[in-house]
Amino acid sequence: MALKKILIVSGTHGNEINPVWAVNQFSKHNDANVNHIEYKYTIGNPLAFERGCRYIDNDLNRSFNSTKDNLDNSIYEINRANYLVEKFGVNGSDPCDIAIDLHTTTSNMGTSIVMYGRRIKDFCLAALLQHKFGLPIYLHEKDQKQTGFLVEAWPCGLVIEIGSVAQNFYDPKIINRFLIIIKALRDEINKLKNNQIKLAKDLVVHVHQGSIDYPREKNGNINALIHPSRMNQDWKPIKTSDPLFMDMEGNTQTYKGEDTIWPVFIGEVAYKEKNIAMSFTKKEVLGLSDHVCEEFFS
Ligand SMILES: [Zn+2]
Repeated sequence: MALKKILIVSGTHGNEINPVWAVNQFSKHNDANVNHIEYKYTIGNPLAFERGCRYIDNDLNRSFNSTKDNLDNSIYEINRANYLVEKFGVNGSDPCDIAIDLHTTTSNMGTSIVMYGRRIKDFCLAALLQHKFGLPIYLHEKDQKQTGFLVEAWPCGLVIEIGSVAQNFYDPKIINRFLIIIKALRDEINKLKNNQIKLAKDLVVHVHQGSIDYPREKNGNINALIHPSRMNQDWKPIKTSDPLFMDMEGNTQTYKGEDTIWPVFIGEVAYKEKNIAMSFTKKEVLGLSDHVCEEFFS
C-alpha cells in the first residue's frame, strides 16, 4: 500500500477536549505534508464537542458498524460515522490510508495504544510507536457487546489514549503528550521507510479478557467502590485474593480468579454507563515476521 494520508481524529468523544486543542495547535504550526505523508484533521463529533458532552445520541466510537445497522439516520452519530467514512474512508472523496483516533481517559493509564482486532497493519503502527515511546498496547477484542470502533472503518488505525485527565478539563501536560506523538509519528514512519530503525520482532500486548462491574444491590445501586489500594493502579498485576472493591462497612471484595491479570480503565468515568468498573487483560507476546512492516510503510 502506498502510504499517503493519515487522518487525525480528535473529539470523537466531545468531552475529551485536550486532543482537539493539541491538533489545532499542531496544525497551525506544522505543514500538512511532510516526507510525502499528509495529515488530514477532523473533529469526530463536533456537536458533542460544542456541547461538552461525550455524545448526542450514541457513542460515536461504537457507531461504525457495517452498513446494515447504519441506516438509522435519526441518530446523529450514525450520520456522522457515515459522513466520515464517505469523506475520509478509503473509497471516500478525500481518502485516507490510516486513521489515528485521539482520546483521553479519567483512569491513570498514562499514554497507551488501543488496538481493535489483530490486523497486521495495526501491529506495525503500534510496533513503531512502541519502539519510539515504549507505550503499552491494549488489544481490545473478544467483546461482542462492544463493536463499531472508528479506526476499524479504515484499513489501518489506532487509538492513542492518554490519562488521567478529567472530562472537559484542559491540561497542558496532556496536550503536550499528544503533540509529541503527532509530531513523532510521521518522522518514525519515514525512518522505517529509510531503514533507519528496526522494529522488534516481538510485540508485547495486553489482550482484553473481559470487564467487571461495580458490586451492586438488587435494585441496581452500586454498593462498593474501587478499593483504595487498587485506585490508579492501571497496568499493575492483580493476583488471586488481591483487593478489588471496598463497601461502606470497610469489607473488601477480592479477585477470585487464578490467573494473574492486568487491569486497565480502572474507574473510568465514561464506562459507568456501560457497567464497567475496570477491564482485565492478559499479556501476550506476538511475533512480527521479518520485513512485513517495512513493506507496509514503503
Ligand atoms: Zn474517548
